[in-house]
Amino acid sequence: MGSQHILINGAGPAGLSLAIALAKRNIRSTVFEIRSTPTTMGGAINLAPNALRVLDQTIGIYDQIRHLGFEYEYIEFYSDDGWRLGGVANGDRQAYGYPALRIYRAAILEALLKCINDYSTLITIRWGSSINKIAESDTGVEVTLHDGSTINGDILVGADGIHSKTREYVLGDRAPTPIYGGQYGIGGCVERNEIDWQNFTLPALLFSHRGAVLLFPFTPDGNNIGWAIQSTVPEKTREGWIEYLNSGVALEDVRKQYADAGQVSLLMI
Ligand SMILES: Cc1cc2nc3c(=O)[nH]c(=O)nc-3n(C[C@H](O)[C@H](O)[C@H](O)COP(=O)(O)OP(=O)(O)OC[C@H]3O[C@@H](n4cnc5c(N)ncnc54)[C@H](O)[C@@H]3O)c2cc1C
Repeated sequence: MGSQHILINGAGPAGLSLAIALAKRNIRSTVFEIRSTPTTMGGAINLAPNALRVLDQTIGIYDQIRHLGFEYEYIEFYSDDGWRLGGVANGDRQAYGYPALRIYRAAILEALLKCINDYSTLITIRWGSSINKIAESDTGVEVTLHDGSTINGDILVGADGIHSKTREYVLGDRAPTPIYGGQYGIGGCVERNEIDWQNFTLPALLFSHRGAVLLFPFTPDGNNIGWAIQSTVPEKTREGWIEYLNSGVALEDVRKQYADAGQVSLLMI
């Protein structure tokens, strides 16, 4: 076992991938994750060729995940009455060696955690833990966790997402604070045969006079399609957002907003 010990804050896709990449080089790591278990929260995300190359050539899970999601190369742009306006490449097998992949975030985490089982002597994940204090020295770093325990490592890597505490430690007062941009995203799922899609090649961004709607298959056969729109509402507390969604008011609001938007409105029934 290598003598180096790397501390990683956050067990999301980045933190877990780094732990595996280090283990493959016989380097030990400890990952701190604030959640007590792996989360199944969240929907599908897009992995571009640069991410897929790492998951293939460095981590080695590409063959396990590629058939769990929808492989595609282009996102097409249309007016909602079927006129093609353009398109943008997200992946390109010829140019980059990989397409893009739309896949559930939870499926990526599951595959990474399965892979981590093979490196149990090199990777420790401390679920339900967070760092309270970071002390750097000439030889390494010592972190104090919220339960009072201390752990030493050579370096600490911040992989703790948008509200990163590690970033706050490094940048102090200069650390950027995420702010609400005034728009939130909401979406749902439909089956391909529920709506007349013959004018559209998916994935696609449809521009209606009420706003843009993203249509994204997320299963390998392309039959399950997620739709997503952005809508403007005032900022809410964390609990307020949960209530807005769970009460059904959020969906009601977008139904009203898109009521006269032709077949786009059918998505929200
Ligand atoms: C629960 C969740 C659901 C998401 N769903 C979607 C989605 O549906 N669509 C989409 O496009 N993007 C989604 N994202 C964002 C997208 O997954 C990330 O931008 C992308 O995965 C970046 O990966 P990452 O590992 O850098 O960070 P993240 O995926 O954000 O992972 C950061 C990890 O650090 C942990 N963490 C946070 N703070 C601390 C702390 N103080 N101490 C210890 N651990 C901490 C978090 O719990 C998380 O496990 C989601 C992110 C999260 C966290």
